[in-house]
Formats: sequence, structure tokens, C-alpha cells
Amino acid sequence: MTDLILFWHRRDLRISDNLGLASARERSPKVVGIFCLDPGILAADDVAPARVTYMIGCLSQLQARYRAAGSELLILKGNPTQQIPQVAVALDATAVYWNRDVEPYSRERDNAVAAALAQQGIEMRTKTWDQLLHAPGDVLTGAGKPYTVYGPFWRNWQKSTKLAPVDTLQDAMGLSESERESVNAIALPTAQDLGFGWEAPLPLEPGELAAQEQLATFGHQAIEAYDEQRNFPAVTGTSLLSAALKFGAVGIREVWQTAVTAYDACRSDEARINVQTWMQELAWREFYQHVMFFFPELAHGPYRDAWKDFPWENDSAKFTAWCEGRTGYPIVDAAMRQLNETGWMHNRCRMIVASFLTKDLIIDWRWGEKYFMQTLVDGDLSANNGGWQWSASSGMDPKPLRIFNPASQAKKFDADAEYIRQWVPEIRHVDTGALVTGKLSPLDLESTGYASPIVDHKKQQALFKELYRAQKAKLG
Ligand SMILES: Cc1cc2nc3c(=O)[nH]c(=O)nc-3n(C[C@H](O)[C@H](O)[C@H](O)COP(=O)(O)OP(=O)(O)OC[C@H]3O[C@@H](n4cnc5c(N)ncnc54)[C@H](O)[C@@H]3O)c2cc1C
Repeated sequence: MTDLILFWHRRDLRISDNLGLASARERSPKVVGIFCLDPGILAADDVAPARVTYMIGCLSQLQARYRAAGSELLILKGNPTQQIPQVAVALDATAVYWNRDVEPYSRERDNAVAAALAQQGIEMRTKTWDQLLHAPGDVLTGAGKPYTVYGPFWRNWQKSTKLAPVDTLQDAMGLSESERESVNAIALPTAQDLGFGWEAPLPLEPGELAAQEQLATFGHQAIEAYDEQRNFPAVTGTSLLSAALKFGAVGIREVWQTAVTAYDACRSDEARINVQTWMQELAWREFYQHVMFFFPELAHGPYRDAWKDFPWENDSAKFTAWCEGRTGYPIVDAAMRQLNETGWMHNRCRMIVASFLTKDLIIDWRWGEKYFMQTLVDGDLSANNGGWQWSASSGMDPKPLRIFNPASQAKKFDADAEYIRQWVPEIRHVDTGALVTGKLSPLDLESTGYASPIVDHKKQQALFKELYRAQKAKLG
């Protein structure tokens, strides 16, 4: 009788270049995948319909890929601490394998599942760090400590040797009829079935195949213009791979290999800078995951003391206007409407709206962080928390007081107001200068019904600086 290994997928919804799956397959030809729909995650109040839709799409493709390889992906529903040992016992599995994760919830859950499996005498293998090029602890300061500043992290991270993509599941064996009957697996539900309806097209089709195609397309061309193009929200100048990276629809080693191949093929220093800038973004992703691993308290609050009891105004009417894209600042409103309508927002705009929420509306960054998680297709605790703490100046960024002026940002990055016109159609006909500066005439406001600015940027900026100074003085 062949040993059966169960492989538990979580944020690695693919077959190719999957470290944990590769080591399971190396051990036995009989590898069956499992995925558990966990109410601990799905019933939380920060789940985005676009994200669940993307995830279910990935699972559907993953299931088809397992079947094509001769095996099966079992879908379970309930608390993984009960579900995983139950299925392992029912199938008399030799071992359960999974890849590790950095998030506090996942680590706690994994420890509980590991303890429950140990109680049943079932072996588990959980050493692989599939979602990262370098495991937390691999890239440390000279003093052996985790980095808290990105610059030196990047320098050390980039020169550390990285694994090549791995081969995984070929010619696997599935379950016999009687084994299948002994398991409480369910048919894969739709996102709608789970209560998360999402009709709009996603920025990237779900699944491993679309992610690989997108990676190949981006790696061939766009990557060589990235540094220049990535800042303009009206242009598709970035990879759009964030949801695929969040759910592991693409392997990070494959992504890195694409970047290295593109770098080696560059014929100019300019092209090399473009590719290197993209590599630096991948390093930001790892930096935020490493710091989440070493400083899990970041998930709940600010890194800097000055922000621990900052006197946020937290005006809920202003927060609603921000969420709905009705602040009267066209670049901010365009960005929030892009988020609401597509489940994705351009990185430049994420920084603009985050600065606006915290520094102009003086609203706690955690409100914005949560709203992003409730809407983003790529919503990811480490990247989102890192981005918000960077924007709020509450995190590890060595340059604490960063305030974005929405008009200067729009002037620089949406000079022809193309992006503003796309997402705020009621003011499409207004003069470009007025759209970019946000200075619409009373007549324009009246005829379009567009909101007049809910705050004055100059005044708010001064007020914010004052509050920040007082807070720092209070702390000595
Ligand atoms: C306030 C705020 C919140 C954010 N929330 C998230 C989030 O929830 N999930 C998320 O994946 N990214 C988040 N980001 C980072 C960034 O905006 C997105 O990763 C990027 O816009 C995704 O588009 P892309 O795939 O085309 O990126 P590309 O520019 O092609 O970058 C390639 C990949 O690198 C990673 N990456 C790029 N920039 C960053 C960054 N600054 N921090 C961490 N990783 C990065 C992503 O995985 C991305 O897919 C946030 C940024 C800010 C300022």
C-alpha cells in the first residue's frame, strides 16, 4: 500500500514551483491536496468580496490541475484544527505537509493543527517557506537582529543566494473509491455561495495559468520601462501580480527568475535600473513579511511610540466621504472609486489616499487599513499594514513626517487628468488645470454635483504638524 501524504494549501494555490508540495511528492507518489474554508477567516469583518472571488477561482483551477495530474484537491469547511486531523485519520494518511506563513493568526492556527495531529500520532512536515525567497531569520543585521529599516535589508537580501523554481506534482495518485467516501469533503462553493458577490472583472484572472501568462508578458516588455511607468496611475505600468502573489497563484522563485532573466537581457543601464526597481518592490514585499514575523504586534498598532495614543479626530462623516470617493479632492476620489469598482488601486494612489486620510482628515490609519482589507483583491496583512504605517508615519520608516499634497501629486503623476476623468466621470469635461489642482469653480461644482473639498489641505497640514509636535513633546 502506498503511503498517502496530505498537502494543505493555504496561500500557495498552485501546483508549479511549490516547495512544500515538491517535498511531499518526493516522499510519495500518492499526494492529495486539501484546502479548508476557515470561518475564522471568512467570517471576519475585513474580508473583501473581490478577494474571495479571486481565491475561489484559483481553487477551481487548482482542483482541475490536481485531477489532470491523477490526484484530487479536497475542499473542507470548518475549523482546520478539527478538519485537518479528521481527514488525516479517515484516510489513514502517513503525514500532512504545509508551507509556513508569517501572519500571527496563521501561526497560531498552525500550532493548534500541529498539536491536534501530534495527538493523533500523525506526522507533519512544515519547514518550507514557499511564499518568500528568504525565510525570516535568513537575512539579518551584522548583529544577528531582524532589520527594521528597508535600505540595508534590501542590500543584504538582494545579494543572498536564492533558490531556483522547483518541480512538483507529476503523475500523482488519487484516492480509491472507498477512501473518497470516508472523507467529509464538499464541492467547491462559489464566492456567492459564501456570501461574497462580486461582478466586476478582476485586474487579473484567477489561477496559476493566468498568473504565469501575466508574468511572462510583463517580464518580456513592461519590466524594462517599470521605473518610469510605475508612477502614473492612468498607465498600466506595473505587473498586476499582487493578488497572484498574495494567494501564491504564482511561485516567487519563478517571479524572481523572470526578473533575473530580464535583467540579464537588458542592453542599457536604464533598462537595468527599471528591472532593479521592480526587484526592489519584491524586496519590500519580503521586508514587510519579515517584520510581521518578528514584530507581530504591528498587526494591532503602531511601531512608533508617538502614535500609540495620537489624538486622531476620527470624524465618521469624513471617513464615509473618503471611502465613497466624495472628498472634493479629485485625485483622492478617483483612487477610492477605482478601489470600490475594481477591487484594486494603483500604488501611487494608495500612498496619496493613505496620506490624505491620516494627515488631512486626521483619522486613525487603522480605519483605512481595515477598509483596504475589506475591498482589496490583493489585501495582505503584511503589505497593507506596512503600507499604512509608512503612510501614517507610525512605522519603521526612518523619515517620519511624510505629508503628500494631493494637488502636487496629481500635477506630477496625472498631469493630463486622464486618471481623474476615468474614475470621476461627472467632472470629465472640467478644465484639466482645475481637475489636477482640485480648484473647481462654484459653477462647475453646481453643474456637476461634485463635492466641494471637505477640508483645506494647507490648514490640515499645519494642524497635523502641531498635533505631532505636541505628541512628541509629551513623550519627552
Ligand atoms: C497604504 C498601502 C496599502 C497597501 N496594501 C497592499 C496590500 O494589501 N497587498 C499588497 O500586495 N500590496 C499592498 N500595497 C503595496 C502596493 O501598492 C501593491 O503591491 C501594488 O500596487 C500591487 O500592484 P502590482 O502587482 O502591479 O505591483 P508591482 O509594482 O508590479 O510590484 C510587484 C509586486 O511587488 C509587491 N509590492 C510592490 N510594492 C509593494 C509595497 N510597497 N509593499 C509591499 N509589496 C509590494 C507586490 O507583491 C507586487 O505585486 C499597499 C501599499 C500602500 C501604500
